[in-house]
Amino acid sequence: MRIGCHLSVSKGFDAAAEAALTIGANTFQFFTRNPRGGAARNIGEAEMVKWNRLCREYDIAPVAGHLPYTVNMAAPADRTYEFARMVVREDLRRMEAVGAGFLVIHPGSHAGSGRTEGLKRIISCLEEALVDFGGSPVMLLETMAGQGSEIGMLADLKEIMAALGWPAGLGACIDSCHLTAAGYDFLRREEVARLIDDLEATVGMERVKAIHLNDSKFAPGSRRDRHELIGKGYLGKEGVLNLITHSALAGLPWLLETPVEDYRQYGLEIALIRSWLAEAMR
Ligand SMILES: [Zn+2]
Repeated sequence: MRIGCHLSVSKGFDAAAEAALTIGANTFQFFTRNPRGGAARNIGEAEMVKWNRLCREYDIAPVAGHLPYTVNMAAPADRTYEFARMVVREDLRRMEAVGAGFLVIHPGSHAGSGRTEGLKRIISCLEEALVDFGGSPVMLLETMAGQGSEIGMLADLKEIMAALGWPAGLGACIDSCHLTAAGYDFLRREEVARLIDDLEATVGMERVKAIHLNDSKFAPGSRRDRHELIGKGYLGKEGVLNLITHSALAGLPWLLETPVEDYRQYGLEIALIRSWLAEAMR
């Protein structure tokens, strides 16, 4: 099982690889730049060499960059939109440089301008970013909870991909908390099957490249995006097991973004999930 969590790279990618090893993670996600401001960190040559070596040695793959939440490709305000255009282009290249397989992005919020306007902006932003990018990182649009003016239901993702002609460099990242908020009840196995059917009918399973594994503070259909610690929310052990044991999902990288106080707490969650899985497999 490929399982890991969100880790900070503020002390270096090599330090993040060491942290991953300590907590039993063999994949992880990091913010591509400061989650609030948006400033990017420079990565030195020596750090890169060490980072690449550690990933091989510790069998860490894939690694995913996550764009900061301030990046809004659907923003009606020009300044916010221009910032998104610049950051998306730049960070795709930065992910190539650090060997990250994926760049995860929240599609955006239309902030009152309407879904159609929002989608239009997202599509043109992505078109521009992907058209002359021949690198290997795949940009992953994340499924959202459907809060407020958020764009990111499966139908939205399908519309974006179709408008762009289904580029190879574009995929999807699903999130167990967001999907719960959007109405899937993973305490029932048939709801996982319904999700797979919906994924097939929209983006296609082959485009789903990663899963954020989070418990949800609220019950299905709340449209509220509130992550909970593993086993402490609506999904509990049963919901998590229903997801991680489904054959269509099992091979994907599982990334925790739970509200831990310290990254070492992720280690306890990873161990707990592995023990649940081992128990279920017996
Ligand atoms: Zn996200």
